[in-house]
Amino acid sequence: MTNFLLLSAAARRLEGKVAVITGGASGIGESTARLFSRHGAKVVIADVQDDLGQSVCRDLNPSSTTFIHCDVTNEKDVENAVNTATTKYGKLDIMFNNAGISGVVNPNILVNNKADFEQVLKVNLVGVFLGIKHAARVMMGARKGTIINTASVCSIIGGGASHAYTSSKHGVEGLTKNTAVELGKYGIRVNCVSPYLVETSMTKKFFKFDDEGVGGAYSNLNGVVLKAEDVAEAVLYLGSDESKYVSGHNLIVDGGYTITNSGFC
Ligand code: NAD
Repeated sequence: MTNFLLLSAAARRLEGKVAVITGGASGIGESTARLFSRHGAKVVIADVQDDLGQSVCRDLNPSSTTFIHCDVTNEKDVENAVNTATTKYGKLDIMFNNAGISGVVNPNILVNNKADFEQVLKVNLVGVFLGIKHAARVMMGARKGTIINTASVCSIIGGGASHAYTSSKHGVEGLTKNTAVELGKYGIRVNCVSPYLVETSMTKKFFKFDDEGVGGAYSNLNGVVLKAEDVAEAVLYLGSDESKYVSGHNLIVDGGYTITNSGFC
């Protein structure tokens, strides 16, 4: 609740807006849920981690934040998450398709497992497809809305992650562009955000973070590691009316990393 005391009504950039955030129980999604709430949005957190998601909701304003169990690979769950926003808060202004997994990281294609590959594509790409589809179903009627998908710098470079992860994130960028073209005539904007390495539960499994970056080798241009909050600020921009003419864009949030390097592994 203290969240809300910090910003005056005039300073709140999402006052009166309703958002669904997939993967909102942790990391970038959680930071975005917190920032969106602080800016006056009503938020539906859709995630498979029920305890964590409910605890984030309790920590925010319970009258304007709802948790819903949602596996983004299950169309009924995604449909239900979107319908929760419309039944509980009356509409859907912002869909943040953010849930994602890293999958098994193994650069050797000869030992890559088909089931692992398919699972990463299912969560990271099919999950985004379902999120766009069901958000569009509601937003087309309203003739407005903004959809933001979490891609990654792996949407524009190779060699940064597993074959499956890189493929899924390139796919997110493509899907973002295609749907931006289709949905523009309904007043719906579709963009993606592409972070570089951020310290979250996903990446802590693979990297040891310290003040120098990851072992000093993975620092961004300004020598610091991105925080989930830094990505949330970019999502806030794409979710707010301040980006009203931005659509089909891949907003890279990497401290300049990808213009100075061609791969980070
Ligand atoms: P995270 O593990 O902290 O958060 C991911 C969230 O997604 C978790 O709450 C998890 O429960 C949820 N999730 C996983 N599978 C799901 C499913 N099937 N249905 C619904 N929810 C599901 O990791 P994060 O780093 O915050 O990841 C968020 C997004 O950011 C992902 O799409 C990831 O690929 C992307 N990303 C992360 C980084 C990074 O360095 N952390 C960089 C670029 C992109």
